[in-house]
Amino acid sequence: MFFLLIHPVQVNKRNNLITRSASSAAHQKVCVVGGGPAGFYTAQHLLKACQDVQVDIYERLPVPFGLVRFGVAPDHPEVKNVISTFTQTAHHARCCYYGNVNVGTDVSVEELREAYHAVVLSYGAEGNRSMGVPGEDLEGVYPAKDFVGWYNGLPSNRELNPGLDCETAVILGQGNVALDVARILLSPIDELKKTDITQRSLDALAQSQVRRVLIVGRRGPLQIAGTIKELREMVNLPDTKPEMVASEFEGMAEALKVIPRPRKRLTELMLKTAVDPPAEKERQRRQAASRSWGLRFLRSPLEVLAGPDGARVAGIRLAVNRLEGTGDGSVAVPTGEVETMDCGLVITSIGYKSLPIDPAVPFDPRKAIVPNSLGRVQQAAGLYCSGWLKTGPVGVIATTMNNSFDTAHSVVEDLTSGCLDATSAKPGSTGIGPLLDKRGVKPVSFSDWEKINQEERRRGAAQGKPREKLLDVEEMLKTART
Ligand code: FAD
Repeated sequence: MFFLLIHPVQVNKRNNLITRSASSAAHQKVCVVGGGPAGFYTAQHLLKACQDVQVDIYERLPVPFGLVRFGVAPDHPEVKNVISTFTQTAHHARCCYYGNVNVGTDVSVEELREAYHAVVLSYGAEGNRSMGVPGEDLEGVYPAKDFVGWYNGLPSNRELNPGLDCETAVILGQGNVALDVARILLSPIDELKKTDITQRSLDALAQSQVRRVLIVGRRGPLQIAGTIKELREMVNLPDTKPEMVASEFEGMAEALKVIPRPRKRLTELMLKTAVDPPAEKERQRRQAASRSWGLRFLRSPLEVLAGPDGARVAGIRLAVNRLEGTGDGSVAVPTGEVETMDCGLVITSIGYKSLPIDPAVPFDPRKAIVPNSLGRVQQAAGLYCSGWLKTGPVGVIATTMNNSFDTAHSVVEDLTSGCLDATSAKPGSTGIGPLLDKRGVKPVSFSDWEKINQEERRRGAAQGKPREKLLDVEEMLKTART
């Protein structure tokens, strides 16, 4: 029965996994694992480039869009406009979205490879890089991934309840995620109230005692990983003043003459903020500010220090570094000098990392990626990867889009060149549906997600916000099935 063609308007109440997919007459079956930007961009390119392909997207959570929903800062709504493109892809007649399917647990990659001509792994980078220093597990130390997940409503982080009853927070790392976290910690509550930040975190931030945020990097101002937009937002953040150390910028004015454009503008902004005397209006603004933020350079964590109770963070011991070499390739080398910063909150923003989800898939533990060539997984015909799983956790959504298009291009090339045997029939989701059914897994369709979306918007509107996210998977499932 699973191979019958069913008209799209017929609804199979028992298992909607089977209905829409079986309605597509496409012969080539491709599935994508992960419903983040990489998954949707890979699907988009495949659907456009190949008229005979059915693309199914399997996503672990009931809700789609990965880090666009759970990573991108709530006060950057314009970045989330990509969701409308992803929605168009999901509505394509030859595309199906199956949320609430955890690949590696609910269904194996081998089973997907049996059912599809090609499988594209796009499940992102959900692990944390650890600092590997003593005290990392103390109360009050959080990976940025969890802190961001908390304020953005990631179900697994909803109970984080970070302690914000301290004056100084230290963020380790100087990329855009670090700058996002610093901004959220110091933003006026009235600004955050207008965003889709969760009410729970809004309430906690409204009570926050954090008045000072130091953003610490192991290298110098010329190696900072953040970009000018995010730094400018810090510089202009209402009710805050910069607290920089002018001596850390010695020699920068000279360096400006030789550095290329984007970094030059970023360095000019840092120099202006740290060294130039402010104009009168800015001087007054800084004088009236109740909060401060600062960048600190050439410091690496040695140990997170506990307070008198031995349980909660009270400071961090840092090695003072010097740089060897120049530019992006320069290396931080410890000078032997050590210093301590007092703080009651430490957020480590030193990178995300991909994790293996299935022992049958090759994985490079050192680089934390699936080893691939142009998205083709090495020594695994018919298996591909895209997004952060392919490249490591670097780049913005546009970078992810390009690398996902490249992977999709490789899939199309292999399907058309005969590299993959696309002539033999594959069942696609009609082969996977019964397996999931047997295992008690009930997928969430895209129209189910639209019910969740509607409910979140309704709850948000009641509070004057664009949305109030559901934080609990069970509640998402219940809403999807009403
Ligand atoms: P993800 O977005 O992580 O998507 C992976 C998806 O796979 C997720 O939905 C996940 O639930 C799913 N998944 C995981 N495991 C499984 C499994 N076993 N089975 C099925 N599904 C699974 N870029 C910008 O351009 N602008 C920004 O403002 C911006 N802000 C960012 C803020 C933060 C905090 C972070 C971390 C990144 C930000 N980025 C931003 C970068 C952008 O989010 C990434 O480039 C992009 O999300 C990577 O896409 P991806 O699909 O590879 O991974």
